Amino acid sequence: MKIINTPQKMQETAQRWRKKGLTLGLIPTMGSLHEGHLSLVEAAVRECDIVVMSIFVNPAQFGPSEDYQTYPRNLAKDSRKAYKGGVDCIFAPSAADMYPENYATYTCVEGLSEKLCGKSRPGHFRGVATVVLKLFNIVMPHKAYFGQKDAQQFAVLKKMVDELNFPVILHSLPIIREDDGLAKSSRNQYLNEDQREQAIVISKALDHGKTLFMEGVTSAEKIIAEMRGMIEKAPSAKIDYLEIVDEYTLESLVKVQEHALICAAVFIGKTRLIDNLLLL
Ligand code: AMP
Repeated sequence: MKIINTPQKMQETAQRWRKKGLTLGLIPTMGSLHEGHLSLVEAAVRECDIVVMSIFVNPAQFGPSEDYQTYPRNLAKDSRKAYKGGVDCIFAPSAADMYPENYATYTCVEGLSEKLCGKSRPGHFRGVATVVLKLFNIVMPHKAYFGQKDAQQFAVLKKMVDELNFPVILHSLPIIREDDGLAKSSRNQYLNEDQREQAIVISKALDHGKTLFMEGVTSAEKIIAEMRGMIEKAPSAKIDYLEIVDEYTLESLVKVQEHALICAAVFIGKTRLIDNLLLL
């Protein structure tokens, strides 16, 4: 497995692979790898000749009071996991190489970026779209793999790629969960034992929302009200948002219809966790 640290070397290497007619798959990550990330690797290994994983904690997508400095980083451990999973190349650039002094070019997908997570994390999706577009230009993948866990991220990136006519196929893969239902996340390690226990309430509430719908409740307001009641029973939980939206437009829905997605962002103590569930 190759480990490449500079955009220039990565681009040259990718160009050589493309000239040989190989299919390139890219998995953008911030590292601290878990089974969620590795499920994306599994899909990419199945479908591509060369699998590149980027590991980059992207400063442009963190707000000033967020966890950029403390975000868990362990390239050696991640490299071992990636190698075992079948990754051919890790691209782990420095922040200075990705955003040199006086860097000024950003990508913004208007509208979608301001909803849901965009409300409490202004500038987040501008940072995400910018780094992913840069990664696409550097790695030049034919296919790129993302998790349904970050449903808004996928909607934003899909719109970016479609509207900029970028020649890459995006895949969204199912959420990988712990045995008790909590969505796997690099940020779960911030939770203490008690908070970890309480965090289960998020996926339990999503499941309850789905059950209500299966029983015939189609009013988004009713479903959300019951879910809210459940989550608020956990003493450390504070809801950032809880909404039923269309999975592509992210517009709030009054009634559950095709592409209805329940999205949740909940603080458990100081840790902000996101999760979602497609209803139809
Ligand atoms: P991150 O390192 O958190 O930026 O995530 C990198 C990619 O892994 C994103 O496309 C995420 O949506 C995806 N991912 C993160 N957690 C999970 C999970 N539990 N299941 C599936 N994919 C995930």
